[in-house]
Amino acid sequence: MIALRNYFGTIFYALYTVAVGMKITWGRLFKPAVTIQYPDQKMKMPERARNRLYVNIDDCIGCDQCSMACPVDCITIETIKAPADVDLGVTSTGNKKRLYVPKFDIDIAKCCYCGLCVPPCPTECIVMTDVYEFSEFNRRDLIYNFSAMTPDQIVEARARAKKAEEETAAKKAAAAATAAQAKAAAAVNPVPTTPPATTSSMPKPEPPKPD
Ligand code: SF4
Ligand code: SF4
Repeated sequence: MIALRNYFGTIFYALYTVAVGMKITWGRLFKPAVTIQYPDQKMKMPERARNRLYVNIDDCIGCDQCSMACPVDCITIETIKAPADVDLGVTSTGNKKRLYVPKFDIDIAKCCYCGLCVPPCPTECIVMTDVYEFSEFNRRDLIYNFSAMTPDQIVEARARAKKAEEETAAKKAAAAATAAQAKAAAAVNPVPTTPPATTSSMPKPEPPKPD
């Protein structure tokens, strides 16, 4: 009799636990879904979400501020000074461009999406986008190159910068040599200094006239 009671008690308990579990299922069955069928459906990102970075290189002045702000050193920038006779134009924010940017790489695999590189940019050309799907099979493909210069342009810009540097250095050396020559000449032929005024050069008082 006791064994029979345990037998039916176990069956009852099993049905009871199924009913408890199904209570949750039935309770949610006719309510709107809170999940989505990703990747067929995608959630809209919040306006200030931090995802993949983008650099509008046409507006970059090569100031390096973003790179200095990055806590993980994942931004690498190289610049070349433009010669004085080359006009690189201005950015859309009105900043004068004085440097070529032959290299602007972001290693997005290292990036921690802190967003610290965005606010310091004076031309607002480095921004967070809403792109969050950018996985790659090859890790090297996660290094993004933003520079728009071709290898030939880089070589030419470097050569012109070097030539301009040499010309400036030559001008400085010539100016220094001229100054040294003038100094040496002044040491050999010192310029006479004007003697100080003495009492002899002062007008003498007229002698008293006889009565
Ligand atoms: S988001 Fe942060 S980690 Fe990523 S590049 Fe910018 S500063 Fe560096
Ligand atoms: S802070 Fe802006 S302008 Fe300066 S190097 Fe970075 S992206 Fe270019």
